[in-house]
Amino acid sequence: MRFDLFTLYVLAIGTLILSVALTLWEGQARPQRRRELQLFAAGYAMLAAGCVIAIIRQGVLGSALGNLTFVSGYLLVLNGVAAINGRRYAGLSVAMLVALALAWMAGGSRWEADLWSYIGGIPIVVAVGLTAWEMIRCRPLRALRSHPLVVALLAMHTLFYAGRLFVLPLLEAWLGPAVIAGVAKLTMYEGVLYSVGMPMALLAVVREESHAQLLESSRRDFLTGLGNRQWFFEQGERLLRQRAADEPVALLAFDLDHFKSINDRHGHAMGDEILKAFARIARHTLGPEAALARIGGEEFVALLPGYERTHARDIGRVLAARFAEAVPRDPRSAGVEATVSIGVAAFGGGGTTLGDMLSSADRALYLAKERGRNRIELDMPLALAPAC
Ligand code: GH3
Ligand code: MG
Ligand code: MG
Repeated sequence: MRFDLFTLYVLAIGTLILSVALTLWEGQARPQRRRELQLFAAGYAMLAAGCVIAIIRQGVLGSALGNLTFVSGYLLVLNGVAAINGRRYAGLSVAMLVALALAWMAGGSRWEADLWSYIGGIPIVVAVGLTAWEMIRCRPLRALRSHPLVVALLAMHTLFYAGRLFVLPLLEAWLGPAVIAGVAKLTMYEGVLYSVGMPMALLAVVREESHAQLLESSRRDFLTGLGNRQWFFEQGERLLRQRAADEPVALLAFDLDHFKSINDRHGHAMGDEILKAFARIARHTLGPEAALARIGGEEFVALLPGYERTHARDIGRVLAARFAEAVPRDPRSAGVEATVSIGVAAFGGGGTTLGDMLSSADRALYLAKERGRNRIELDMPLALAPAC
Protein backbone atom coordinates (compact mmCIF):
# COMPACT_ATOMS: atom_id res chain seq x y z
CA MET A 1 0.00 0.00 0.00
CA ARG A 2 1.30 3.48 -0.87
CA PHE A 3 0.61 6.53 1.24
CA ASP A 4 0.06 9.84 -0.46
CA LEU A 5 0.67 13.19 1.20
CA PHE A 6 -3.03 13.71 1.87
CA THR A 7 -3.33 10.40 3.76
CA LEU A 8 -0.28 11.22 5.86
CA TYR A 9 -1.72 14.64 6.74
CA VAL A 10 -5.02 13.04 7.74
CA LEU A 11 -3.21 10.49 9.89
CA ALA A 12 -1.23 13.25 11.62
CA ILE A 13 -4.42 15.27 12.23
CA GLY A 14 -6.11 12.24 13.80
CA THR A 15 -3.23 11.38 16.11
CA LEU A 16 -2.75 15.00 17.13
CA ILE A 17 -6.44 15.45 17.99
CA LEU A 18 -6.31 12.25 20.04
CA SER A 19 -3.21 13.57 21.79
CA VAL A 20 -5.00 16.84 22.62
CA ALA A 21 -7.80 14.86 24.30
CA LEU A 22 -5.45 12.49 26.16
CA THR A 23 -3.21 15.31 27.35
CA LEU A 24 -6.12 17.43 28.63
CA TRP A 25 -7.53 14.33 30.34
CA GLU A 26 -4.16 13.73 32.02
CA GLY A 27 -4.14 17.37 33.14
CA GLN A 28 -7.36 16.71 35.10
CA ALA A 29 -5.53 14.08 37.14
CA ARG A 30 -2.27 16.06 37.61
CA PRO A 31 -3.10 19.50 38.93
CA GLN A 32 0.58 20.29 39.59
CA ARG A 33 1.37 19.90 35.86
CA ARG A 34 -1.98 21.08 34.48
CA ARG A 35 -0.58 24.29 33.00
CA GLU A 36 2.25 22.52 31.19
CA LEU A 37 -0.12 19.83 29.88
CA GLN A 38 -2.55 22.51 28.67
CA LEU A 39 0.30 24.18 26.77
CA PHE A 40 1.22 20.83 25.19
CA ALA A 41 -2.42 20.21 24.24
CA ALA A 42 -2.68 23.72 22.72
CA GLY A 43 0.54 22.99 20.79
CA TYR A 44 -0.83 19.72 19.38
CA ALA A 45 -4.10 21.46 18.46
CA MET A 46 -2.13 24.11 16.53
CA LEU A 47 -0.08 21.43 14.76
CA ALA A 48 -3.31 19.66 13.78
CA ALA A 49 -4.72 22.99 12.54
CA GLY A 50 -1.49 23.51 10.58
CA CYS A 51 -2.02 20.15 8.86
CA VAL A 52 -5.63 21.09 7.96
CA ILE A 53 -4.49 24.41 6.51
CA ALA A 54 -1.67 22.65 4.62
CA ILE A 55 -4.23 20.34 2.94
CA ILE A 56 -6.66 23.05 1.90
CA ARG A 57 -4.21 25.91 1.38
CA GLN A 58 -4.52 27.96 -1.74
CA GLY A 59 -2.18 30.76 -2.66
CA VAL A 60 0.45 32.53 -0.62
CA LEU A 61 -1.91 33.45 2.17
CA GLY A 62 -2.77 29.80 2.81
CA SER A 63 0.90 28.77 2.84
CA ALA A 64 1.84 31.64 5.15
CA LEU A 65 -1.01 30.83 7.52
CA GLY A 66 -0.12 27.12 7.51
CA ASN A 67 3.54 27.82 8.22
CA LEU A 68 2.72 30.30 11.02
CA THR A 69 0.27 27.83 12.56
CA PHE A 70 2.83 24.98 12.55
CA VAL A 71 5.46 27.22 14.13
CA SER A 72 2.96 28.38 16.81
CA GLY A 73 2.31 24.71 17.66
CA TYR A 74 6.00 23.99 18.15
CA LEU A 75 6.41 27.19 20.19
CA LEU A 76 3.54 26.20 22.49
CA VAL A 77 5.18 22.82 23.16
CA LEU A 78 8.47 24.68 23.81
CA ASN A 79 6.71 26.94 26.33
CA GLY A 80 5.15 23.88 28.01
CA VAL A 81 8.52 22.20 28.53
CA ALA A 82 10.11 25.50 29.61
CA ALA A 83 7.29 25.97 32.16
CA ILE A 84 8.47 22.78 33.90
CA ASN A 85 11.76 24.63 34.44
CA GLY A 86 9.88 27.75 35.58
CA ARG A 87 10.89 29.57 32.38
CA ARG A 88 9.01 31.26 29.53
CA TYR A 89 9.75 31.98 25.90
CA ALA A 90 6.89 34.43 25.36
CA GLY A 91 9.11 37.24 23.96
CA LEU A 92 11.10 34.98 21.68
CA SER A 93 7.94 33.23 20.46
CA VAL A 94 6.25 36.50 19.48
CA ALA A 95 9.46 37.78 17.86
CA MET A 96 9.83 34.59 15.80
CA LEU A 97 6.22 34.68 14.63
CA VAL A 98 6.44 38.38 13.70
CA ALA A 99 9.71 37.82 11.80
CA LEU A 100 8.19 34.87 9.95
CA ALA A 101 5.04 36.85 9.08
CA LEU A 102 7.21 39.72 7.79
CA ALA A 103 9.25 37.28 5.69
CA TRP A 104 6.03 35.94 4.13
CA MET A 105 4.71 39.45 3.53
CA ALA A 106 7.95 40.60 1.94
CA GLY A 107 8.76 37.60 -0.22
CA GLY A 108 5.69 35.35 -0.22
CA SER A 109 4.53 36.07 -3.71
CA ARG A 110 7.98 35.64 -5.29
CA TRP A 111 9.47 32.83 -3.23
CA GLU A 112 6.45 30.95 -1.91
CA ALA A 113 7.98 27.49 -2.54
CA ASP A 114 11.30 28.43 -0.94
CA LEU A 115 9.58 29.97 2.07
CA TRP A 116 7.41 26.88 2.53
CA SER A 117 10.19 24.32 2.04
CA TYR A 118 13.22 26.08 3.56
CA ILE A 119 12.91 29.43 5.35
CA GLY A 120 9.70 28.41 7.14
CA GLY A 121 11.58 25.42 8.56
CA ILE A 122 14.16 27.58 10.36
CA PRO A 123 11.85 28.61 13.25
CA ILE A 124 10.80 24.95 13.58
CA VAL A 125 14.43 23.87 13.99
CA VAL A 126 14.97 26.65 16.56
CA ALA A 127 11.76 25.85 18.51
CA VAL A 128 12.27 22.07 18.62
CA GLY A 129 16.01 22.48 19.32
CA LEU A 130 15.22 24.79 22.24
CA THR A 131 12.59 22.32 23.48
CA ALA A 132 15.25 19.58 23.46
CA TRP A 133 17.63 21.89 25.30
CA GLU A 134 15.00 22.80 27.93
CA MET A 135 14.24 19.10 28.38
CA ILE A 136 17.94 18.24 28.81
CA ARG A 137 18.34 20.81 31.61
CA CYS A 138 15.01 19.93 33.22
CA ARG A 139 16.04 19.08 36.78
CA PRO A 140 12.72 17.68 38.04
CA LEU A 141 12.60 15.15 35.18
CA ARG A 142 16.26 14.36 34.59
CA ALA A 143 16.39 11.27 36.80
CA LEU A 144 13.34 9.64 35.17
CA ARG A 145 13.62 6.67 32.82
CA SER A 146 11.50 8.27 30.10
CA HIS A 147 13.55 11.50 30.09
CA PRO A 148 16.21 10.31 27.59
CA LEU A 149 13.42 9.07 25.33
CA VAL A 150 11.82 12.54 25.14
CA VAL A 151 15.22 14.17 24.57
CA ALA A 152 16.04 11.65 21.80
CA LEU A 153 12.70 12.25 20.02
CA LEU A 154 13.15 16.03 20.17
CA ALA A 155 16.77 15.80 19.03
CA MET A 156 15.82 13.54 16.11
CA HIS A 157 13.06 15.90 15.00
CA THR A 158 15.47 18.85 15.21
CA LEU A 159 18.12 17.00 13.22
CA PHE A 160 15.58 15.91 10.63
CA TYR A 161 14.39 19.48 10.01
CA ALA A 162 17.92 20.89 10.16
CA GLY A 163 19.09 18.19 7.69
CA ARG A 164 16.19 19.05 5.43
CA LEU A 165 17.17 22.72 5.44
CA PHE A 166 20.75 22.03 4.47
CA VAL A 167 20.50 18.86 2.39
CA LEU A 168 17.30 19.53 0.42
CA PRO A 169 18.74 22.47 -1.59
CA LEU A 170 21.69 20.30 -2.59
CA LEU A 171 19.41 17.42 -3.56
CA GLU A 172 17.15 19.75 -5.52
CA ALA A 173 20.12 21.19 -7.41
CA TRP A 174 21.37 17.70 -8.14
CA LEU A 175 18.18 15.76 -8.92
CA GLY A 176 15.76 18.50 -9.93
CA PRO A 177 12.54 19.88 -8.38
CA ALA A 178 10.84 16.44 -8.36
CA VAL A 179 12.82 15.62 -5.24
CA ILE A 180 10.81 18.22 -3.30
CA ALA A 181 7.64 16.10 -3.53
CA GLY A 182 9.49 13.01 -2.26
CA VAL A 183 11.01 14.90 0.65
CA ALA A 184 7.60 16.42 1.47
CA LYS A 185 6.22 12.87 1.87
CA LEU A 186 9.22 11.85 3.96
CA THR A 187 8.70 14.94 6.12
CA MET A 188 5.07 14.07 6.67
CA TYR A 189 5.92 10.44 7.41
CA GLU A 190 8.43 11.60 10.05
CA GLY A 191 5.81 14.14 11.19
CA VAL A 192 3.23 11.38 11.74
CA LEU A 193 5.73 9.36 13.79
CA TYR A 194 6.61 12.49 15.78
CA SER A 195 2.97 13.37 16.36
CA VAL A 196 2.42 9.92 17.87
CA GLY A 197 5.75 9.57 19.70
CA MET A 198 6.11 13.03 21.20
CA PRO A 199 2.75 13.30 23.02
CA MET A 200 3.14 9.70 24.27
CA ALA A 201 6.66 10.40 25.55
CA LEU A 202 5.61 13.66 27.23
CA LEU A 203 2.66 11.91 28.88
CA ALA A 204 4.99 9.11 30.03
CA VAL A 205 7.44 11.55 31.59
CA VAL A 206 4.68 13.48 33.43
CA ARG A 207 3.13 10.23 34.72
CA GLU A 208 6.51 8.91 35.80
CA GLU A 209 7.23 12.15 37.62
CA SER A 210 4.01 11.93 39.59
CA HIS A 211 4.64 8.25 40.36
CA ALA A 212 8.13 9.14 41.63
CA GLN A 213 6.63 11.91 43.80
CA LEU A 214 4.13 9.48 45.30
CA LEU A 215 6.90 6.98 45.99
CA GLU A 216 9.01 9.70 47.57
CA SER A 217 6.18 10.91 49.81
CA SER A 218 5.44 7.31 50.87
CA ARG A 219 8.98 7.19 52.29
CA ARG A 220 8.95 10.61 53.96
CA ASP A 221 7.66 11.66 57.34
CA PHE A 222 5.25 14.49 56.61
CA LEU A 223 5.81 16.37 59.90
CA THR A 224 9.61 16.51 60.04
CA GLY A 225 10.54 15.95 56.40
CA LEU A 226 12.89 13.14 57.43
CA GLY A 227 12.73 9.62 56.03
CA ASN A 228 10.19 7.27 57.61
CA ARG A 229 10.62 3.71 58.88
CA GLN A 230 10.31 2.16 55.41
CA TRP A 231 12.84 4.58 53.94
CA PHE A 232 15.23 3.92 56.81
CA PHE A 233 15.20 0.17 56.30
CA GLU A 234 15.70 0.48 52.54
CA GLN A 235 18.41 3.12 52.83
CA GLY A 236 20.07 1.45 55.83
CA GLU A 237 20.27 -1.96 54.12
CA ARG A 238 21.77 -0.25 51.08
CA LEU A 239 24.39 1.56 53.19
CA LEU A 240 25.35 -1.66 54.98
CA ARG A 241 25.65 -3.53 51.68
CA GLN A 242 27.80 -0.80 50.14
CA ARG A 243 30.15 -0.31 53.09
CA ALA A 244 33.80 -1.22 52.59
CA ALA A 245 34.81 -4.35 54.54
CA ASP A 246 36.67 -2.41 57.23
CA GLU A 247 34.46 0.68 57.35
CA PRO A 248 32.84 1.18 60.73
CA VAL A 249 29.11 1.98 60.95
CA ALA A 250 27.19 3.04 64.03
CA LEU A 251 23.51 3.36 64.77
CA LEU A 252 21.91 5.84 67.16
CA ALA A 253 18.38 5.23 68.49
CA PHE A 254 16.65 8.30 69.97
CA ASP A 255 13.54 8.60 72.12
CA LEU A 256 12.39 11.99 73.37
CA ASP A 257 11.90 12.02 77.15
CA HIS A 258 8.52 12.41 78.85
CA PHE A 259 7.04 13.44 75.56
CA LYS A 260 3.53 12.54 76.60
CA SER A 261 3.68 15.05 79.43
CA ILE A 262 5.02 17.76 77.04
CA ASN A 263 1.90 17.16 74.95
CA ASP A 264 -0.31 17.14 78.05
CA ARG A 265 1.14 20.37 79.45
CA HIS A 266 1.78 22.42 76.30
CA GLY A 267 -0.57 20.89 73.75
CA HIS A 268 -0.13 18.61 70.77
CA ALA A 269 0.87 21.47 68.44
CA MET A 270 3.79 22.32 70.71
CA GLY A 271 4.70 18.61 70.74
CA ASP A 272 4.86 18.79 66.94
CA GLU A 273 7.16 21.84 67.13
CA ILE A 274 9.53 19.93 69.41
CA LEU A 275 9.59 16.97 66.99
CA LYS A 276 10.44 19.33 64.13
CA ALA A 277 13.11 21.04 66.25
CA PHE A 278 14.70 17.67 67.03
CA ALA A 279 14.73 16.73 63.34
CA ARG A 280 16.39 20.06 62.42
CA ILE A 281 19.04 19.86 65.14
CA ALA A 282 19.77 16.19 64.42
CA ARG A 283 20.20 16.86 60.70
CA HIS A 284 22.43 19.85 61.40
CA THR A 285 24.57 17.95 63.95
CA LEU A 286 24.86 14.60 62.15
CA GLY A 287 25.33 16.03 58.65
CA PRO A 288 23.90 15.06 55.28
CA GLU A 289 25.61 11.65 55.17
CA ALA A 290 23.64 10.29 58.13
CA ALA A 291 20.59 8.16 57.23
CA LEU A 292 18.24 9.93 59.64
CA ALA A 293 14.63 8.88 60.03
CA ARG A 294 11.59 9.23 62.27
CA ILE A 295 10.52 5.63 62.82
CA GLY A 296 7.77 6.17 65.39
CA GLY A 297 5.90 8.90 67.29
CA GLU A 298 8.83 10.47 69.19
CA GLU A 299 11.40 7.91 68.09
CA PHE A 300 14.18 8.60 65.64
CA VAL A 301 17.19 6.67 64.33
CA ALA A 302 20.39 7.54 62.53
CA LEU A 303 22.80 5.24 60.74
CA LEU A 304 26.25 6.82 60.63
CA PRO A 305 28.66 5.42 58.02
CA GLY A 306 32.30 5.84 59.02
CA TYR A 307 31.56 6.15 62.77
CA GLU A 308 33.09 3.93 65.49
CA ARG A 309 30.79 3.40 68.48
CA THR A 310 32.69 5.88 70.74
CA HIS A 311 32.79 8.49 67.97
CA ALA A 312 29.03 7.97 67.54
CA ARG A 313 28.53 8.35 71.30
CA ASP A 314 30.43 11.67 71.24
CA ILE A 315 28.34 13.13 68.43
CA GLY A 316 25.19 11.81 70.14
CA ARG A 317 26.19 13.71 73.27
CA VAL A 318 26.66 16.91 71.29
CA LEU A 319 23.22 16.43 69.73
CA ALA A 320 21.52 15.77 73.08
CA ALA A 321 23.14 18.89 74.62
CA ARG A 322 22.19 21.11 71.65
CA PHE A 323 18.61 19.87 71.73
CA ALA A 324 18.18 20.43 75.48
CA GLU A 325 19.66 23.90 75.12
CA ALA A 326 17.97 25.04 71.90
CA VAL A 327 14.33 24.12 72.56
CA PRO A 328 13.62 26.48 75.52
CA ARG A 329 15.47 29.30 73.71
CA ASP A 330 13.69 28.90 70.39
CA PRO A 331 10.81 31.43 70.10
CA ARG A 332 8.66 28.65 68.60
CA SER A 333 8.98 26.57 71.80
CA ALA A 334 10.08 29.19 74.32
CA GLY A 335 10.25 27.92 77.90
CA VAL A 336 9.59 24.24 77.09
CA GLU A 337 12.07 21.78 78.56
CA ALA A 338 12.77 18.82 76.29
CA THR A 339 15.47 16.18 76.38
CA VAL A 340 16.35 13.00 74.52
CA SER A 341 17.72 9.60 75.52
CA ILE A 342 20.03 7.80 73.10
CA GLY A 343 21.24 4.23 72.59
CA VAL A 344 24.31 3.45 70.45
CA ALA A 345 25.08 0.24 68.56
CA ALA A 346 27.98 -0.50 66.25
CA PHE A 347 28.22 -2.79 63.23
CA GLY A 348 29.78 -6.07 64.35
CA GLY A 349 29.42 -5.42 68.08
CA GLY A 350 25.64 -5.22 67.97
CA GLY A 351 25.16 -7.60 65.03
CA THR A 352 25.68 -7.38 61.31
CA THR A 353 22.12 -6.80 60.12
CA LEU A 354 20.20 -3.58 60.43
CA GLY A 355 17.52 -5.33 62.51
CA ASP A 356 20.15 -6.64 64.95
CA MET A 357 21.80 -3.23 65.23
CA LEU A 358 18.45 -1.57 65.90
CA SER A 359 17.56 -4.10 68.63
CA SER A 360 20.96 -3.62 70.18
CA ALA A 361 20.66 0.20 70.13
CA ASP A 362 17.14 -0.16 71.58
CA ARG A 363 18.54 -2.14 74.53
CA ALA A 364 21.08 0.61 75.16
CA LEU A 365 18.30 3.20 74.88
CA TYR A 366 16.24 1.30 77.45
CA LEU A 367 19.28 1.45 79.75
CA ALA A 368 19.54 5.22 79.22
CA LYS A 369 15.86 5.58 80.22
CA GLU A 370 16.39 3.39 83.27
CA ARG A 371 19.42 5.37 84.34
CA GLY A 372 17.51 8.63 84.47
CA ARG A 373 16.96 9.87 80.82
CA ASN A 374 18.70 12.77 79.00
CA ARG A 375 21.71 10.54 78.56
CA ILE A 376 23.44 8.25 76.09
CA GLU A 377 24.40 4.60 76.57
CA LEU A 378 26.49 2.21 74.48
CA ASP A 379 25.14 -1.21 73.56
CA MET A 380 26.68 -4.27 75.07
CA PRO A 381 28.83 -6.06 72.42
CA LEU A 382 27.38 -9.46 71.48
CA ALA A 383 30.33 -11.31 73.00
CA LEU A 384 29.48 -9.87 76.44
CA ALA A 385 25.69 -10.04 76.16
CA PRO A 386 23.87 -12.62 78.29
CA ALA A 387 22.99 -15.83 76.40
CA CYS A 388 19.26 -15.25 76.82
P1 GH3 B 1 9.60 8.20 77.91
O1 GH3 B 1 10.45 9.25 78.52
O2 GH3 B 1 9.58 6.94 78.72
O3 GH3 B 1 9.91 7.94 76.50
O4 GH3 B 1 8.10 8.76 77.99
P2 GH3 B 1 7.24 9.32 76.84
O5 GH3 B 1 6.12 10.10 77.43
O6 GH3 B 1 8.10 10.05 75.87
O7 GH3 B 1 6.75 8.02 76.11
P3 GH3 B 1 5.33 7.51 75.76
O8 GH3 B 1 5.54 6.33 74.83
O9 GH3 B 1 4.51 7.25 77.00
O10 GH3 B 1 4.64 8.67 75.00
C1 GH3 B 1 4.95 9.03 73.70
C2 GH3 B 1 4.02 10.13 73.29
O11 GH3 B 1 4.34 10.66 72.01
C3 GH3 B 1 2.58 9.69 73.24
C4 GH3 B 1 2.04 10.29 71.97
O12 GH3 B 1 0.88 11.03 72.20
C5 GH3 B 1 3.15 11.24 71.53
N1 GH3 B 1 3.22 11.37 70.10
C6 GH3 B 1 3.39 10.38 69.19
N2 GH3 B 1 3.39 10.90 67.94
C7 GH3 B 1 3.20 12.23 68.07
C8 GH3 B 1 3.10 13.31 67.13
O13 GH3 B 1 3.19 13.15 65.91
N3 GH3 B 1 2.90 14.56 67.62
C9 GH3 B 1 2.81 14.79 68.97
N4 GH3 B 1 2.63 16.04 69.38
N5 GH3 B 1 2.87 13.78 69.87
C10 GH3 B 1 3.08 12.53 69.44
MG1 MG C 1 8.79 6.07 72.69
MG1 MG D 1 9.61 8.99 74.82
